[in-house]
Amino acid sequence: MAPPLPTSLPLEFLESHGLAAQGCPMSSLGLVKEDHFTQAQYLGVLENLRQRTDEELAIYVHVPFCHVRCLYCACDTTVTHSIEKVDQYLDALEREMDMVTERIGRGRRVEQLHVGGGTPNHLNEPQLARLMEIVERHFQLAPDACTSIECNPRRSSVGQLELLYGLGFRRISFGVQDLNVDVQRAIGRVQSLNMVRDVFLTARETGFESINLDLVYGLPFQTEQGFQSTLEQILDLGPDRVACFSYAHDPAKRPHQHAINTAHLPSATEKLALFHRAVRTFTEAGYRWVGLDVFVREDDELYDAQVEGRLYRNSIGYTPMPAKQVLAFGPSGIGEMADALVQNESDLKLWQKRLNNGQFPIAWGRCLSESDGRRRRAMLHLMCNLRLPASSAADLDQEYEQLCKKAEHGLVEVSEDGIRVTPQGRYVLHGICAEQDVLVDCGSNQWRFGISA
Ligand code: SF4
Repeated sequence: MAPPLPTSLPLEFLESHGLAAQGCPMSSLGLVKEDHFTQAQYLGVLENLRQRTDEELAIYVHVPFCHVRCLYCACDTTVTHSIEKVDQYLDALEREMDMVTERIGRGRRVEQLHVGGGTPNHLNEPQLARLMEIVERHFQLAPDACTSIECNPRRSSVGQLELLYGLGFRRISFGVQDLNVDVQRAIGRVQSLNMVRDVFLTARETGFESINLDLVYGLPFQTEQGFQSTLEQILDLGPDRVACFSYAHDPAKRPHQHAINTAHLPSATEKLALFHRAVRTFTEAGYRWVGLDVFVREDDELYDAQVEGRLYRNSIGYTPMPAKQVLAFGPSGIGEMADALVQNESDLKLWQKRLNNGQFPIAWGRCLSESDGRRRRAMLHLMCNLRLPASSAADLDQEYEQLCKKAEHGLVEVSEDGIRVTPQGRYVLHGICAEQDVLVDCGSNQWRFGISA
C-alpha cells in the first residue's frame, strides 16, 4: 500500500524539502568542491587505487551526445550530427583510459560497467563496438559483470539492440518520461506508446535481463489523470524497474529550459500528488519502492538489499553490493575511489583539450577525511535503507540532532534503535537529508542516474 502523503506539512516546507530536485540529492553528499585539486593529488588517488588490488572496480562511461536537446534535460550533453566529433571523443576516451590504467594497472577486473549520457545509442554501430573494445582492452570484465546502458527509444533499432546484447550489455534503460502528447510536445520529445512498446518488446526478445524505464514528473501540462494513464501504460509493458524522477526547472543553469513556460508547470503540491500516484500505482501492482524514486519487482536484488539494510548508491546508481571503487570516464563523469571523489570537466572541448595536453581532465575533487567519510556513509545509509542504526547514528555529528528534529513533523522516528524514516517522511527524504548535510552543495553536481536518454 502506498504510504499517505504528508499533507499536514505547510506548503513552504514541501517546496523547500519536497521532491524539488531533478536527479538525486546524493549528488551533493560530501561533494564539496576543491577546484584546485591538482594532478599530483589525482596521481596520489590512483596510486592508492593501484595498491588496492583486491578491490572490485566499477566503471562509468559518459557519452556526451544527443541528436536533439529535450527541453527539460539536465544532463551534460551536446547535440551533434558529426561522425567525426564522436570519433574524436572516442580517441580522447581511449587516451583517458590509457592514462588511468597506466597508473592503476591494465586488465584490472571490473564487476560493473554502466554506459550513460547523453544518449549512448546516438553512436553508430562501429562506434558502439569501438567503445566496448576500448573498455575491454583496458579492463577485464568479470564473466558475471553487471553491464548496463542507457538508450533513447527514438534511436533504437532491432539491429542496434542485437549489437548491444552481442557486445555484452545485459541491462538496458529507456527514457520514456511521459506518454501524454501535450506533455511530450511541451518538452520537445514526442515518442508514441506504439514506438516505446515496439522497442521494449524488441529488447525483451533480444534477451536483455533487465529493462528499466525512466519517467519524469513535474513536467508542463502533467495532470494526475494524464500521468495515471502513463503509469498504467508503463505497467502494461511490465518493466523490471521504473525510475520516477522529479523535474527541476532551473533555466539559469540550463538555458534551454527557458523554452518551458512556467505557467504550465505543476505546483509543489501537485508534483507531490503526481509522485504519490506513481507510488500508489506501482506498489498496488506489486512493485516495491526502493530508495528515493525507483520501483522494482519484489524479487529484485535492490529490494532485498533495502530490506536487509545493505542498499547503497554510488555515482552509477543503486547497488546491492558493497561499495566498489568507481572509475568514471568521459566528460562530467564522477568517480568515487580510494576515499576520494573526483569529477571530470563537463565541457567536452575542455575535457578533450586536457587529455590532448597529457593531463587528467579533472575539474575538481575531494579527498575525504575520516569524518567526511563516516558522515557520508551514514547519510547514504539512511537515504538508501530508510533507517540508521544507533551504532551508525554515532557517525553523524551535528546532522544527528538536526535529523531528530524532523520527528516533530512525523518524518522520522527516533528510538534507542536509531533513526527510522516514516512512510510519510519518504516523500521528503531528499530534502531532509540534503538539509542536514553540512557538506551539501546542492545541485552543483550531477549524479549519474536516469533522466538522460
Ligand atoms: S534528456 Fe536525454 S535524450 Fe534528451 S537531451 Fe537530455 S540526455 Fe539527450
